[in-house]
Amino acid sequence: MIERYDLHSHSTASDGALSPSELVVRAQQQGVTALALTDHDTIQGLDEAKQAAALNGIQLINGIEISTTWENHCLHIVGLNINPEHVSLKTGIAHLQAIRSERAQKIAFKLEKKRIPGAYEAVTLAAGKGMITRSHFADFLLQQNHVSTQQEAFDRYLGQGKPAYVSTTWASLNDTLNWITAAGGVAVLAHPMRYKLSANWMNRLLSAFKESGGQGIEVITGRSSPEEITLTSQYIKRYGLYGSVGSDFHSPANQWVELGRLKPLPEIIKPVWALF
Ligand SMILES: [Zn+2]
Ligand SMILES: [Zn+2]
Repeated sequence: MIERYDLHSHSTASDGALSPSELVVRAQQQGVTALALTDHDTIQGLDEAKQAAALNGIQLINGIEISTTWENHCLHIVGLNINPEHVSLKTGIAHLQAIRSERAQKIAFKLEKKRIPGAYEAVTLAAGKGMITRSHFADFLLQQNHVSTQQEAFDRYLGQGKPAYVSTTWASLNDTLNWITAAGGVAVLAHPMRYKLSANWMNRLLSAFKESGGQGIEVITGRSSPEEITLTSQYIKRYGLYGSVGSDFHSPANQWVELGRLKPLPEIIKPVWALF
């Protein structure tokens, strides 16, 4: 059987639209044979996903996507094949949970000053046991008719430089990589082209990443262009890293990104799953 990997996806445990089991069923229907659930700063969805994967005959890889601050850049580092029970990882997640909850209170306070009350209560309720993300605030603003699309919520209130933006210091690169490797996982730099780094900054980042134990880069994402794949492959070769593939699927409403709909990894690139 030919394996089809999708090593980056989100559920309702963070800002995804599908529950972990709905996500697994959809992945199976799309022909994925090995799926990693990588919710933002939480492992909450993994148990349910694991059970659903066993029922549907696909492989579930335990994952997480950790919000990281490096040199004033917000980076996303995916941890794959982690042991979710590892104590340093759990401590790290608790720390990030505290940061998120504090950020949510600050965002709500800023919205209140713009005469939009009740946001914190609403997003806490909507997130349930999962992580509060800015998407929850965007949904709230949409439901309360302050905006007419999610994007408008970011453009008018939540995005950088807007009235309800809160700058946040997440985990350090070193801490993130330590938590992932201590938990037996493989650390992967997610969607490298989204940070808009110059070649100079990308080289600095990858040196620091590699030095602290990082092992992979996402070469193929849901929307990678051939040029981006070539460029990322060059970085992989230069730093002796492994390549990952992941759609970063969040919701069926986004018609541009689907589970498992990924270009193949270039043959010269060693796949991250060789390390699992
Ligand atoms: Zn991300
Ligand atoms: Zn993601």
